[in-house]
Amino acid sequence: MTNIQRRKFLSLSGGIAALGALGIPLTGIGAAYKARVIVVGGGYGGATAAKYLRLADPHIEVLLIEKNRNFMSCALSNEVLAGERSMESLSFDYQALTQLHGVQVIFDEVSDIDAVGGKLSTKLGKEYVFDRIILSPGIGFKWDEIDGYNEQAAQMVPHAWHAGDQTKLLRRQLEAMPDGGKVYISAPSNPYKCPPGPYERAALIAHYLKKSGKTKSKIIILDAKEQFAKQALFQQGWELHYPGMIDWIPASAGGKVLGVDPEKGILFTEFGQHKGEVINIIPPQKAAPITQLADLANHDGWCPVNQQTFESTLHDRIHVIGDACIAGKMPKSGYSANTQAKVCAAAVAALINGTSLPDPSYVNICYSIIAPQHGISIANVYKLDNGEIIPVEGAGGTSPLLASSWERKMEATYARSWFKNITADVFR
Ligand code: FAD
Repeated sequence: MTNIQRRKFLSLSGGIAALGALGIPLTGIGAAYKARVIVVGGGYGGATAAKYLRLADPHIEVLLIEKNRNFMSCALSNEVLAGERSMESLSFDYQALTQLHGVQVIFDEVSDIDAVGGKLSTKLGKEYVFDRIILSPGIGFKWDEIDGYNEQAAQMVPHAWHAGDQTKLLRRQLEAMPDGGKVYISAPSNPYKCPPGPYERAALIAHYLKKSGKTKSKIIILDAKEQFAKQALFQQGWELHYPGMIDWIPASAGGKVLGVDPEKGILFTEFGQHKGEVINIIPPQKAAPITQLADLANHDGWCPVNQQTFESTLHDRIHVIGDACIAGKMPKSGYSANTQAKVCAAAVAALINGTSLPDPSYVNICYSIIAPQHGISIANVYKLDNGEIIPVEGAGGTSPLLASSWERKMEATYARSWFKNITADVFR
């Protein structure tokens, strides 16, 4: 029996009572829907997918299961470290998804997915049947890769790579640091969420230190890589606004962090050790834990998908979007997750309705803020080529190295305006 046939069977044949006895929530079952899609994770990718699937076909029942009552955006969270933005301005709720778009939002954590049986289970002990799943759970950390760095150590040495309490902890540590203190940022190897993020963070921490008169302090980035996104633009901006305050050490010069002593504030590298007053470790990453539990990730920890529909190549009827998936040449960003969600929602609607798949197009812009009036960006439009997402030649670009202060100021304005627009697109 196909899954759709199975759902029809359940709704027509007393299946409701049977499911109730199993503890399966009855919401929506028996209603006039042609299929049920469960979206897991209500961040940039998941909330967009839920909304756009309902817009694509209101006869598809959409359940969104999310761990937290409010989503806290990582995008622009470095401005909190700079003392230029409140945490509240990064927080979004799910009311509009429910009230305007008819998405059924459930606050719970998905703990297992039975792809073959077409049901998932949650931490609160519920089971839900589905015809398809769209998973957008974001990233997880490879805790074991930096010796001594685990969830417990992160309470002393924050990663601040999930916005929220971790961001607040890092901010408090920066506030408490005396002038002359050293801030270390450990940047991971590729791929990871938000490639320019560590370098924007260095700039905005420098902004805070300068603003608060801690001008004898330094920020040292220990990098597991040899180069990074928008490097020349960042280095130019650092020298312009924070001369001598930011050092960048690539892997070949001893930048790869191998271990940490969180109590003593010491980082260990191949070339020696460093003691910092504040340490921010951004750990190596993989797809969020639920993807490993559901056997959706490959040996590198990321989820392979058909890049036209985002359906997993490991399990049918489960689509993975956003940071967790392998999306060709697209970077792991909120904008990428948003655009992938729209492509995926259109594909899922087509698959359910038996119509032909739309021809996809994808887009991403990553803005970075170096100082309140200094923004830079990299943009790309993408297409599908032999099953892989690649940039469309001549359709993107990076901010020029030679630009006026007015142009830099405008890019900072565009960055904040992008944030307002995309969060309205995702959550309203
Ligand atoms: P997320 O947005 O992380 O959402 C995942 C959601 O899934 C979360 O709400 C989580 O609670 C939920 N979840 C996970 N597992 C489960 C489960 N088992 N059950 C239920 N719920 C679950 N991107 C940009 O485009 N522009 C920027 O300027 C930018 N700046 C950034 C700055 C920083 C410092 C950082 C760290 C990131 C930045 N990003 C930026 C990247 C952006 O935040 C991510 O790429 C984006 O959030 C990815 O979206 P997602 O839907 O894949 O995952």
